[in-house]
Amino acid sequence: MDTVELTKKLVEINSVTGSEGEVCEFVKNYLEENGIKVEKNQVDDKRYNIIARTGSGEKKLILCSHFDTVPPHIPLSGKDGKLYGRGTCDAKCHIASSLNILIELSKTKLNGELIFVGVTAEEVGGDDGAKKVVEELGLKADAAIILEPMDLRLAIAQVGVIWADLEMTGKEMHVTQMNDEANVVGEMAKLVAKLHEEFPKKFNQDSLVGKPQFQVTVFKGGETTNVLAGKCIAKLDCRHTPNETKEQIYEFIDECINLSNLKVKPEVKETAYRPVLETNKENDIVKTFTKIKPDIELFGYEAVTDANYFSDVGIPSVIFGCGKMDVAHTRDEHVVIDDIKKEEEILKKVCEDFLN
Ligand SMILES: [Zn+2]
Repeated sequence: MDTVELTKKLVEINSVTGSEGEVCEFVKNYLEENGIKVEKNQVDDKRYNIIARTGSGEKKLILCSHFDTVPPHIPLSGKDGKLYGRGTCDAKCHIASSLNILIELSKTKLNGELIFVGVTAEEVGGDDGAKKVVEELGLKADAAIILEPMDLRLAIAQVGVIWADLEMTGKEMHVTQMNDEANVVGEMAKLVAKLHEEFPKKFNQDSLVGKPQFQVTVFKGGETTNVLAGKCIAKLDCRHTPNETKEQIYEFIDECINLSNLKVKPEVKETAYRPVLETNKENDIVKTFTKIKPDIELFGYEAVTDANYFSDVGIPSVIFGCGKMDVAHTRDEHVVIDDIKKEEEILKKVCEDFLN
């Protein structure tokens, strides 16, 4: 089936995260009908990640994209040379192009192995998807191309993300009874102000992914006006760049705690972490892209994809694909049909060149 038709078929299937079973079945059948063996990595009784390979040899290249979409499912429609609907650019056109490239290259002689990795649960952090596949199957490869709507540009870096809770515990009591007690809401407010004041002074170096960012996004404490709060929680979101390490960010938080003269020190609890990604411009996979498409824009992506799960185990990773990230996750999600064809053409040449 032609890649545009295949994209349409995939978009017609509702695969909001948690309900990818039907699309997994469709992809499995499509590959098998075209003579490709499918390996399943089961997530629950209906959903699974798919690994499919063609070619053989020392060199290995992974093409990875995701089956799931954000809610709600938006049916397929089309006008002006574009496909509209949930998942058109994020990421079903990429699933379609990778499947067809795998099938086409299975009919040629490759000097290496091309591995398709189709995953669930990307939109909720990838624990059941890319992370699970990489950990459980011990995947090894010389490079991974993660397919996401990058407007046909090549991302060679992405931010690292730290989510953490700052939690202060005080004594709940009538406000008139407090003597030397700490007001944890006031103490936390001092700390939050300090963090916001100091962060841009300390971390302001520009990088491929822009400047690092630090924001307290949730602040919760207290029950009612005349009672001193027993607890105050601030949640922070920090996006760091390849110039900073996670350890430096935590040292900075400790410094601010010390500088704020607090009556109560908070506990700092990490709730999520995605490591930073940076792939060298001299790496083979980057060079292959620039050879095939000399005017390709190299950039750093200011958000997060599954790429870090591959780079974490030593697989150099880049992010590529057609479609625009600023329409993904919106009611207006779409992809330009000609761009699907461009993606497929570039990607196929990159695979052939890398594995020859
Ligand atoms: Zn995506």
